[in-house]
Amino acid sequence: MSNTLRNRYRADLREMEFQLFEMAKIDELFVPGGFENWNKETSLAVLEQTRQFAYEVSGPLNGYADELGCQLADSPEGKRVVTPKGFKEAWDKLFELGLTNIAVDAEYGGLEGPHALQVVVEEMLTGANTSFNMYAGLTFGAAEMLAAFGTPTQKSTFLGNMLGGKWAGTMCLTEPNAGSDVGAATTKAVKQADGRYKLYGTKIYISGGDNDLTENIVHMVLARIEGAPAGTKGLSLFIVPRVRINADGTLGKFNDVTLGGIEHKMGIRASATCVLNFGESDDCYGELMGGVANEGIKQMFRMMNTARLAVGIQGLALASNAYLAALSYAKDRKQGPSIENFKDANAPKVAIIQHPDIRRSLLEMKAKVEGIRSIAVLIAAHQDRAHFYQGKDDEKAAFHQGQVELLVPIVKAYGSDQAFRVAEIAVQVHGGAGYIKDYGVEQDLRDSKIFSIYEGTNHIQSMDLVARKLGQRGGMNLMALAGEIQAFVEEHKDDATLGGAVATLGASVEAINGAVMRFMGWSGEGKLGLVSMFANRFLELMSELVVGYLLLKGAAIAKAALAGGSTEKAFYEGKIHSAVWFARNILPTTGARAEVMAQEDDSALTISDEAFASA
Ligand SMILES: Cc1cc2nc3c(=O)[nH]c(=O)nc-3n(C[C@H](O)[C@H](O)[C@H](O)COP(=O)(O)OP(=O)(O)OC[C@H]3O[C@@H](n4cnc5c(N)ncnc54)[C@H](O)[C@@H]3O)c2cc1C
Repeated sequence: MSNTLRNRYRADLREMEFQLFEMAKIDELFVPGGFENWNKETSLAVLEQTRQFAYEVSGPLNGYADELGCQLADSPEGKRVVTPKGFKEAWDKLFELGLTNIAVDAEYGGLEGPHALQVVVEEMLTGANTSFNMYAGLTFGAAEMLAAFGTPTQKSTFLGNMLGGKWAGTMCLTEPNAGSDVGAATTKAVKQADGRYKLYGTKIYISGGDNDLTENIVHMVLARIEGAPAGTKGLSLFIVPRVRINADGTLGKFNDVTLGGIEHKMGIRASATCVLNFGESDDCYGELMGGVANEGIKQMFRMMNTARLAVGIQGLALASNAYLAALSYAKDRKQGPSIENFKDANAPKVAIIQHPDIRRSLLEMKAKVEGIRSIAVLIAAHQDRAHFYQGKDDEKAAFHQGQVELLVPIVKAYGSDQAFRVAEIAVQVHGGAGYIKDYGVEQDLRDSKIFSIYEGTNHIQSMDLVARKLGQRGGMNLMALAGEIQAFVEEHKDDATLGGAVATLGASVEAINGAVMRFMGWSGEGKLGLVSMFANRFLELMSELVVGYLLLKGAAIAKAALAGGSTEKAFYEGKIHSAVWFARNILPTTGARAEVMAQEDDSALTISDEAFASA
């Protein structure tokens, strides 16, 4: 196997710059009260530094770590996880560079920069080595929970150490009988005379549940205090360090969090997916997050946007890597004559990028990757603006926050579903070379599948969209987005280059509006089976509308740049091509697929369980 090829990570910095500065215009926030210590040069320097880390440090470990996975070693405290060689050095380097802390307050050692910039940084960190970046991502997520809800003492005890990479963090929700149904969790917390809680229970599938990268691991554990109500309302969030912390901040005694094993899985094989036992020896202590009981799910919910955006970015990262690998392969691999010469046995062989089907495949990948990147950066830019306007202009802040809420299930579900599909196309473009391990795209395919499952399966995302988000703020978030798209259609419908494509966008808005009305009707009539059955489809259609819009908006910017005499002809023309391709090949199908919903076919609801098969 050629390791050089397999480990090759590729990132398109020019495209990232386009999304940040020409689309999301994050430089508008480089002003007093915003990100006043930042400018375009510093932002681009961070991108360059991240790319270098991804190319030279974490990326080269990716294929080898996938082969090896995580190992187990004995220790006085039971089994411990051993991550692949090189992870520890990469971890130390990552935190030395501060790449995970761009949007963190200076108080905790962060750089107080834009979330939008962190999005593309995360894209590169994940794309280069998803497994490795999982440990950092979960640590960041756990630290964010502490920053948002921890007491001052909890923050001062944990935050600096976690954000500095000294201690890792995890999220412990899932149990054997509590997956999507988190409220079924049975992990128990028993209050002690001194006010602390003892924990008892088993959590499964815990990413980074154990590691050898840090001296401590801080678990965020959902558990039910004895006597608390059933369901999600009775869940509390506990901070449970693997090793207890002494009053002076030094590490104390082992806290009875034992590793029950690691899963052997399809992808992200070097991310340890752990079974964790709490309190096997009746000696596991935790403290209530923020000192409040029965608020666990509310606290988790408030952090959900960031976590779900993070999974969307994971999808983007692998989709982009798979696309760029396929593009590179298609330029190199010679096979057969061009279609014009297909009857001529002596015709020169051409690179497969010359074959129409490969070109179509590449353009589909390009359009989807750029569209998903646009949504991810846009959401983070809305987050940045919501923060900026808070206390200055509440209406604007509410608008931006509303867009975040509306778009998060879209980036999570569409980003993750399409990552798998884009990776699948990349395998196809490689032919047999894609199916064997040498080129890394089969790893992208395997690694990306989990994104549609964890952090709320994509069906949960679609139900979040149709049942909560469409009606949020009285439907104002949705109306604002639809209004923005319609205004774009009005402005560009007569454009000589983009007009035809823009017309399909206009028709798509109409189709999606019709589908929204249909969902409202079904909800009103109590046809909940139809709502649930068509929710995924609706999410996909709405995602395509948003992608189509953002690609066309990018194309309009590209057209203006070309008209203004830009010398980056290929780059901007590429933007126009991906937008027109998506608008002409995907958007026209949204109407037909929305129309299918009108037929209210309930075959899947009425078929008996026995009728599916007799096997
Ligand atoms: C590699 C990996 C890493 C993970 N990391 C973590 C972690 O760090 N922390 C953590 O707590 N968990 C983690 N998980 C667990 C993950 O979040 C769960 O697997 C996920 O929530 C789904 O739960 P489940 O596996 O029990 O599937 P189930 O909930 O059993 O779902 C099975 C299927 O049924 C569908 N379904 C379930 N309920 C409904 C319903 N009411 N209506 C319609 N459809 C429904 C689902 O959409 C899914 O398609 C991880 C899992 C894996 C595999």
